[in-house]
Amino acid sequence: MKHLSEYRDGKIAALLIEKIKKVCRNNWTIMEVCGGQTHTICQYGIQEILPKEINLVHGPGCPVCVTPLEQIDKSIAIAKLPDVILCSFGDMLRVPGSRSDLLEARAEGFDVRMVYSPLDCLKICKDNPDKKIVFFAVGFETTAPANAMALWQARKQKIDNFYMLVSHVTVPPVLEAVLQNEDSNIQGFLAPGHVCAIMGTGQYQYLSAKYKVPIVVTGFEPLDLLEGIYICIEQLENGHHELCNQYKRMVKNEGNKAALEIISEVFQPDDRLWRGIGMIAESGYKLSEQYKKYDAETMFLVENIQTSESPICISGEILLGRKKPAQCPAFATACTPQTPLGATMVSDEGTCQAYYKYRKE
Ligand code: SF4
Repeated sequence: MKHLSEYRDGKIAALLIEKIKKVCRNNWTIMEVCGGQTHTICQYGIQEILPKEINLVHGPGCPVCVTPLEQIDKSIAIAKLPDVILCSFGDMLRVPGSRSDLLEARAEGFDVRMVYSPLDCLKICKDNPDKKIVFFAVGFETTAPANAMALWQARKQKIDNFYMLVSHVTVPPVLEAVLQNEDSNIQGFLAPGHVCAIMGTGQYQYLSAKYKVPIVVTGFEPLDLLEGIYICIEQLENGHHELCNQYKRMVKNEGNKAALEIISEVFQPDDRLWRGIGMIAESGYKLSEQYKKYDAETMFLVENIQTSESPICISGEILLGRKKPAQCPAFATACTPQTPLGATMVSDEGTCQAYYKYRKE
């Protein structure tokens, strides 16, 4: 398939691997930030074909994985309120809360629906004027424009039975938290190409200069990742630290102007709790003043949310690049995609699921 197979070409991959081998002389640890990149790395065996000096660790860029347990429990509690239809993406319905998940709420008879776009909720609102439709909005900067558009449309169309439970997070603050961690041994980053396609590269330029670390904005196909790793290793070996854009076919330095405008109209920065990681200042979004009336958190006061994580799960350590799934005692035994103990095993972008699918040994 054009524009896909050309980024999976074995001959070009072999040339890139040769270039990496030639330039790499020391031990280096690089974090790929996005769960989509982690899945490509595992699926194509990229870690295995790299020189043994290069250690790839996996980052926090899986939206389902970092959504706090408290928000999942809250979504389940809201779904069980009278006259509510709770909507979200398929992945979110399966993520375990403290005691159950949204699919179990549906099995108990509550109206929980999977949607493919937040805009689907507007039709559900019109078809069910006597119900309150709540969209559980999770994700990074990539899903924020569509979620913002759904609220913008709701406001324009005067739909007043639509609410959003917002759990949006943003990448640069969590990268800064990783960089500030004293135990971190990460020396270079492959930044998430799709997030930069929306937001541009400015914040990554700032982080690269402040922490003197190479950051390469990288795509998601095997050749993208190999090229990103090559650029990163070349910088490390030569003592450079710059922001580079490997994913020029998608990412402009200034980002996507229309998407940025709608995000800034509907959302404003907010402190956010990251599952397994903790609270990070200004690391996500809440609704702006003019969209406050759509906020499910203020509309539905659900109390007594008492969260409890699996005591075995080390997904927080995995999301920060400190551990890998095989270091978890439950990996592929008590914890599998059918019986997940943590979100990194549930999500299609989760590191534990990637290792289970492609590297179970
Ligand atoms: S294998 Fe399961 S229990 Fe272990 S860290 Fe991953 S999600 Fe958590």
